[in-house]
Amino acid sequence: MRTITIVGAGQAGLQLGIGLLDHGYDVTIVSNRTPDEIRAGKVMSSQCMFGGALARERSLGLNRWDDACPPVEGISFTVPDGSGGKAISWASRLDVPAQSVDQRVKMPAWMNEFELRGGKLDFTDAGVEHLESYARSSDLVIVAAGKGDIARLFERDTERSTYDAPQRSLALTYVTGMRPREEHSAVSFNLIPGVGEYFVFPALTTSGPCEIMVFEGVPGGPLDCWRDVRSPAEHLETSLRLVRQFLPWEAERCGDLALTDDNGVLAGRFPPTVRKPVGVLPSGATVLGLADVVVLNDPITGQGSNNASKCATSYLSSILEHGDRPFDREFQRQTFERYWDYAQYVAGWTNALLAPPPPHALELLGAAGAHPRIARRFVNGFDDPRDFFHWFMDPALAQGYLATVAA
Ligand SMILES: Cc1cc2nc3c(=O)[nH]c(=O)nc-3n(C[C@H](O)[C@H](O)[C@H](O)COP(=O)(O)OP(=O)(O)OC[C@H]3O[C@@H](n4cnc5c(N)ncnc54)[C@H](O)[C@@H]3O)c2cc1C
Repeated sequence: MRTITIVGAGQAGLQLGIGLLDHGYDVTIVSNRTPDEIRAGKVMSSQCMFGGALARERSLGLNRWDDACPPVEGISFTVPDGSGGKAISWASRLDVPAQSVDQRVKMPAWMNEFELRGGKLDFTDAGVEHLESYARSSDLVIVAAGKGDIARLFERDTERSTYDAPQRSLALTYVTGMRPREEHSAVSFNLIPGVGEYFVFPALTTSGPCEIMVFEGVPGGPLDCWRDVRSPAEHLETSLRLVRQFLPWEAERCGDLALTDDNGVLAGRFPPTVRKPVGVLPSGATVLGLADVVVLNDPITGQGSNNASKCATSYLSSILEHGDRPFDREFQRQTFERYWDYAQYVAGWTNALLAPPPPHALELLGAAGAHPRIARRFVNGFDDPRDFFHWFMDPALAQGYLATVAA
């Protein structure tokens, strides 16, 4: 039986660990937090997951919340006109509804499931010394520690990283009492030119259904305002103030808001970063990075958990196909490159959306209001962003596509 140690009990580490157990591997997951600590801790994400990721979870029997979690049935897109109205406004349904299950609900349940299926949980805040020890006792060590400090063991890939500084200040506000969107539920995505983005959608949290408000502020702008917020109540007040100031139609839904809990708030920022996938320990032993450790995207496109799921599935296939051969450095490199074949498109599209939209993108997003076909293609691209490279990312392809739609 081959022995694999995974550092990090998040979306990627747990999904991969459980997948490996199902194929007879001896798996230990190292977590710096117990399930109770995760459940009682702060929110970490808005974790909206699309059809492909949900199907991967279902195939492992990990879809515990299909009945309890309110579906996200579509995506709406709005650009304010700067004088209280809307310059662009449309919505389209997702072919498969998305779901957002608070990681404080999901990860403790998956940790329990991991143990029930025969996995070992080790509660340690792993450092380099621990990695050395895991490398001696395991056939393969995988680091799935997200934005944890241990990720710095992996060198930043300067060629593959587009930015070297945070491109948005980020804030999350988990609330109850928001009026549901009419017609169908959706990620209501608002792009405020030069200022940032606000999106909001239904989710399931520790106390039941809620809505998650996500603020993405251009650094130095009016949405970059969370540093002086001192309490959860102030965080909620700031959220309401911003929505009232920039997006009156969203404020109309916010008549009677309350925080889900005092830990239902988060503020921070980080630079989107691609890292080299193989970490070399002082002894010369190597460890392999997984998901956010190696490809960390800004949440503007809501891809991180989806990518974590994709990466876990890709690594599982690589490990299974490798059989009894050693998990050496070349295996680790190739395993990442196979995932990068997909992830490079997600990173490219996400990084493009962090920059001011080029004219062809605005033209397409405007045309989507008149052509439901374009809107449908745009919203369903979130499930597999490679499609954007056939029509959205390039001015010439965009013109060709618009011509076929208009014909
Ligand atoms: C504001 C915000 C909004 C987001 N919204 C979305 C969204 O709508 N849709 C989406 O798909 N993604 C979203 N994401 C991204 C998504 O949450 C992450 O990409 C995803 O959780 C990454 O999974 P992971 O398994 O790589 O890491 P994580 O989920 O971060 O898990 C890593 C785990 O490792 C543990 N750990 C860290 N260091 C150590 C250590 N030294 N030893 C042991 N354990 C350790 C951590 O405690 C954590 O439990 C958002 C992120 C943010 C910040």
